[in-house]
Amino acid sequence: MIFKKTKNTDKKGHVGLRWKLFAYLAAFTLLILLALWVLQIRLLGYFYEREKFSELEDAADVIGKSMGNGLDGQVSSISASKNMCIRIFLIEDGAAHQVADAEASVDCMIHHLPSELLADLYDSANEGGGTYHKKVSFNHDPGESEDDFRLPGMHHPANISNAIYVRLIEHEGRRYMAVFDSELTPVTATVNTLQVQFLWISAFLLFAAFLLALVLSRVIATPLAAVTAKARKLAAGNYEADFEGIGYREIEELASTLNFAANEIGATDRLQKELIANISHDLRTPLTMIKGYSELMRDLPGENNAANAQIIIDETTRLSELVNDLLDISKLQAGTKKPEYSVFDLAALVEETMLRYEALIRHHGYRIELKVAEKAFVRADRTMILQVIYNLINNAVNYTGDSLRVGVDMKILEDRVRLSVTDDGEGISPERIKDIWERYYRVDKVHKRAVMGTGLGLSIVKGILEAHGARYGVDSAVGVGSVFWFELPLVGEGGSI
Ligand code: ADP
Repeated sequence: MIFKKTKNTDKKGHVGLRWKLFAYLAAFTLLILLALWVLQIRLLGYFYEREKFSELEDAADVIGKSMGNGLDGQVSSISASKNMCIRIFLIEDGAAHQVADAEASVDCMIHHLPSELLADLYDSANEGGGTYHKKVSFNHDPGESEDDFRLPGMHHPANISNAIYVRLIEHEGRRYMAVFDSELTPVTATVNTLQVQFLWISAFLLFAAFLLALVLSRVIATPLAAVTAKARKLAAGNYEADFEGIGYREIEELASTLNFAANEIGATDRLQKELIANISHDLRTPLTMIKGYSELMRDLPGENNAANAQIIIDETTRLSELVNDLLDISKLQAGTKKPEYSVFDLAALVEETMLRYEALIRHHGYRIELKVAEKAFVRADRTMILQVIYNLINNAVNYTGDSLRVGVDMKILEDRVRLSVTDDGEGISPERIKDIWERYYRVDKVHKRAVMGTGLGLSIVKGILEAHGARYGVDSAVGVGSVFWFELPLVGEGGSI
């Protein structure tokens, strides 16, 4: 059922990617087409006219320079090469006398202009600072528009416009007027052709965008699908999943992240299984003892004695210690158990702790060498720190060598106090040292000493010290022994730092 669901989502996502890519590519294509359409089709006429007028201006520049010599030749050559009509007038005594002219292959408009219109052009150029542009359209129906000309004797097709340019030229104290005229071929035909081309280009580009989206989505989605298939195995509990990200960097990163996650989940899973096995083992041992001894006391009257009852009491104590430890650890890890801070003398606490070990020292020959010199006030949770000290000394007692010697050393280091618990047991090898702080980690997996230790001691120590933000650690050498230590900042007796 779950599998089916994932599959559906996957399919949906795949199609989504393709269409999304297509939408982006199509939008991009349309943007380019729009830009082309505006420039090529909408503004074609405008650009064409500007080009024509600038040709006329260039011609006026050349004519202006050759006013003195070879004017006639220059006028005819420009007219022939640029296909424009040119007339040059000398303005003298309020009248215009033509001094040069050239007709283009087309019917020249300026050659048909009546003198009053010529005079108008002159006036306009005069007012315009020496130049004047005008686009004129022909209309067979006079009076339609202000700009429309109707010239007698001239047969011009409708809808044809002309670009007229006038320049006033001063030469050797005389004033000339140069008038230029170039036919503006209608761009409608070109626009029509372009429009058809444009439609074809649009269709082609959109199709290409679709194909590209298809290819890209495949390139992106195929490695993703492979990763997803393996992720499904991971979800089903196969932590061996070996993700391969082939294709591009992002998918490689995803694959390596997933590989890392799979390893971590696998490790946690193994740890959890081990944890359950260990807890069950540790719970079962005292329970079996309690059950066995209770049955013994019930069934055999002679066994109903204080010694057997003590065994039951001891095992019950051990059981409740284990359960308490487990509770502590889960609270510490969940963050629900927070230190209740108070200011106390650590030296006094350590000395008080020693009382607990008196029986051990007296009956089992242990030697606990205590070096506590001064008072050392710290701000911490007293009960928790007591637990830390117990755990460290218990371990030292458990793991110390035949000398049965344990050292408890308290040193003041500038602004902090360091408590070290030393033993001369077999030590811990460097590769195992980081694991001992994990719950239920034991250097040798066999439960050697069934009486002391639950395998949770150091992880409780770690949890408490980390909750205090304290520094802690272990220095150990195989065959020499171990020193477990932690440090707390010193405060004044009243709690000031
Ligand atoms: P345990 O109940 O097994 O002592 P702990 O969490 O207190 O559990 O310690 C974890 C493991 O760290 C121990 O099983 C032991 O292998 C190692 N260890 C702890 N203290 C010492 C020590 N003083 N010397 C050598 N090994 C130690």
